[in-house]
Amino acid sequence: MGEEEEASKQGSLPFDERYVPTGTYRETLARSLQDPERFWKQLALRELHWSHPFTRVIGGRAPFWKWFEGGETNASYNCLDRHVEAGRGGRVAYHWEGEPGERRTITYRELLSLVERIAGVLRGLGLRQGDRIALYLPMVPETPAVMLAAARLGIGFTTVFSGFSAEALAGRIQDCGARIVVTADGTYRRGRFLPLKPIVDQAVDRCPSIEKVLVVRRGPDPVPLREGRDLLLEDELKSAPAHQPPVALPSDQLLYLLYTSGTTGKPKGVVHGTGGYLVHAASTMRWVFDAKPETDTFWCAADIGWVTGHTYIVFGPLLVGLTSVLYEGAFDIPSPDRIWSLVERYGVSTLYTSPTAIRSLMKHGNEWPRSHDLSSLRLLGSVGEAINPAAWEWYYREIGGERCPIVDTWWQTETGGILISPAPGLATLPLKPGSATLPLPGIDADVVGDDGRSVPPGTKGLLVVRRPWPGMFLTLYNDPKRYQEVYFSRFPGLYYPGDYAVRDPDGYFWLLGRADEVLKVAGHRLGTIEIEDALVSFPAVAEAAVVGQRDPVKGEVIAAFVTLRSGAVPGPSLSEKLRAHVREKLGPVATPEAVHIVSGLPKTRSGKIMRRVIRSVANHESVGDLTTLEDEATVDEVRKAFEDLRGAMSKEPPTSA
Ligand code: ATP
Ligand code: MG
Repeated sequence: MGEEEEASKQGSLPFDERYVPTGTYRETLARSLQDPERFWKQLALRELHWSHPFTRVIGGRAPFWKWFEGGETNASYNCLDRHVEAGRGGRVAYHWEGEPGERRTITYRELLSLVERIAGVLRGLGLRQGDRIALYLPMVPETPAVMLAAARLGIGFTTVFSGFSAEALAGRIQDCGARIVVTADGTYRRGRFLPLKPIVDQAVDRCPSIEKVLVVRRGPDPVPLREGRDLLLEDELKSAPAHQPPVALPSDQLLYLLYTSGTTGKPKGVVHGTGGYLVHAASTMRWVFDAKPETDTFWCAADIGWVTGHTYIVFGPLLVGLTSVLYEGAFDIPSPDRIWSLVERYGVSTLYTSPTAIRSLMKHGNEWPRSHDLSSLRLLGSVGEAINPAAWEWYYREIGGERCPIVDTWWQTETGGILISPAPGLATLPLKPGSATLPLPGIDADVVGDDGRSVPPGTKGLLVVRRPWPGMFLTLYNDPKRYQEVYFSRFPGLYYPGDYAVRDPDGYFWLLGRADEVLKVAGHRLGTIEIEDALVSFPAVAEAAVVGQRDPVKGEVIAAFVTLRSGAVPGPSLSEKLRAHVREKLGPVATPEAVHIVSGLPKTRSGKIMRRVIRSVANHESVGDLTTLEDEATVDEVRKAFEDLRGAMSKEPPTSA
């Protein structure tokens, strides 16, 4: 990597060379890895407009690579202006729907106009290239518009999920030194109006870097504004100039910084650049989602506050000129078929959501999806956690009508875009429920042992990526040392994502859970996902989490927590049945010592199970940073389950397992 390469030689490649070289998918993969620089260069030229051509594909010094060095481009221009210039301004960019039911349709031309005017407002506030702003915004059309307006001027933004507390928001603002916050008065969630502005007021009191608070009005009432500090966006727009030209920005210009979910600890401030990130976003739209901009309606049903929203609600779909659905609220408000009514109304062709959402939709039962026409769907996606085969099957059968491929996409905030996934836009690969299948072209992923050497198929190990890829983060904000330590020191020269995995004899990747959550039971290493999959395959179980619990005799035993599907009856006999079920599926080693039935699991606000919290409770340790926790009551419930168990064990002799 970073080898000197003659840019002039690469310049001779034809622009229109076919995206996907003919031949099988595996050949494409192999070819892309023979000469990654040539491969990515073709894509960069094809996918983006460069106002100044790049001179090197990969510059910089490992692990601080600079993608498309010397090049200048602009995210907002590539997402909007060029479509409008090409006569596609009338195409719908977003079909927006509020939770109470209001609808708005925004074309590419309208979105561009809004973005230009917001950029004018930002400029009027004195913001310049290299400044940072924070976004604490709900799922309204202004949110992508503010992101693109910042990008238009080279202002870095950080989006903080609008479900976070004032404390979490303040911490992120302080970390990046944002000069303004853009927020809304509130948002509709779960049937009520949830004020956001008071949370911002509280946070900003602790953030001396903040000069102004810009407020989007969502609710019906006048918004109380703090004199001299707060501005209403709609007022500012009235006097904003109609046009604001995009600034030509260096390829490694900070586009946004985003904090990770905090599943394993304190969130990390992940920094994304411009050129490389956009090339990756656009390419994966075509490969993974097989984007057909003329006919598709794309719905990435994540919150914009997560990386999934950044790459697959905003930048990816707009780069390739797709029409997307943007929905404000919960999937089950006013009834559990809200999500399916949206699919039907907008004729959604591609639905991309998380296993946690899929499991909760499944929990509601089949009558809800069955009461809607879902025949417009042609592709389904999953992201955020490993999808249990049982949930995969349900999604495939009940939602996709056995006709839609499922793309189980493995990636991280750090990777910028998808790295391992089926790629129906390139080739038809046999799918296997629970496997993210193969790395995408240009991605040199592998599974290694503790010594950093590749392990053979069937041997579990640690996922690594051997070479950089364009969407990868540039660093951790203000902390290049931590960037090197966390990601590049475990195996020098390799990117270490911190996930446990195995490849099967076909080379397919199976993600088995977080590396630091691996269970070591009686000399065996087990990924949490292996046991959770077995539990979720039991019909009564909706969700499962397993953790290791220290045991004076065995070293470590497995504690399992499950939630049930509607209608299932909890009780000691069910717990016993579940233990027997796991034993039958995986053998005695993997059998949980106890299966606790709870009504909810501790999760991050992005819906991921926080096993580290359960593990800390089980091992009488401090639970650590809880700023990203969704619901504190779930932790108490876990605690109570352990106490009940201890109480029961002190009264009667433990039943032999
Ligand atoms: P933190 O790094 O702060 O602990 P986080 O890792 O949850 O938070 P994200 O970047 O949102 O933050 O999540 C990336 C992680 O999610 C991956 O490392 C992996 O563990 C998990 N993940 C995402 N997609 C998949 C998938 N398709 N299959 C299995 N695991 C996945
Ligand atoms: Mg992570």
